[in-house]
Amino acid sequence: MHGTGQTVDVVLKWRRSEDIGAVLQEQPEPLVVGSPECVPQPCELHPEQITEHAYLGLLPEDLQEAIATWEEELLDEEEEEAEADFPTEYSSDLSLAPGWKAGGFATWHLSDPHPVDCTVCGTPMPPLLTAYYVEWDPASESWAPREDLRPDLFRHVITPTGVYLGRGYLRIHTCPADPCHSHRLSAPGRPL
Ligand SMILES: [Zn+2]
Repeated sequence: MHGTGQTVDVVLKWRRSEDIGAVLQEQPEPLVVGSPECVPQPCELHPEQITEHAYLGLLPEDLQEAIATWEEELLDEEEEEAEADFPTEYSSDLSLAPGWKAGGFATWHLSDPHPVDCTVCGTPMPPLLTAYYVEWDPASESWAPREDLRPDLFRHVITPTGVYLGRGYLRIHTCPADPCHSHRLSAPGRPL
């Protein structure tokens, strides 16, 4: 990724997994980078498969109402049990994981939802990769790996990659009908 002032240019390179040989011990650094915040800090990656659910505002109205009722009931239960330890919000705790992720759904909480369709064939394009500088924060702690919820990390904003591409998420969408069709980006404040 190259940061150039207000815009981010993304180059996607597809590789066949069978063509990949030994992984390099030393990762080559990019020759040109628009800003240091575009290069991840060395950190460990432990991919974890999770289940996401669609953005609240894109669900049918009756389902949105049912979720609101359910959240209110959970809040009432929490008040009765001070030590309750369960998520209470669909949006922050259950539907959309923060941080970097492959696949999943898009969040539109910083802008209104809008379709991202392929410019070649018109097929709706789901996110392939989402980059976000916060891996989790106190409002999204339900997504933190159990082993990382240590006392020194509890109630902190966790930013392990150090990558900052502007406020909000950078999403790369690809065409499910044909990977050769151009990818598109969606992010608040950036043109599609
Ligand atoms: Zn397409």
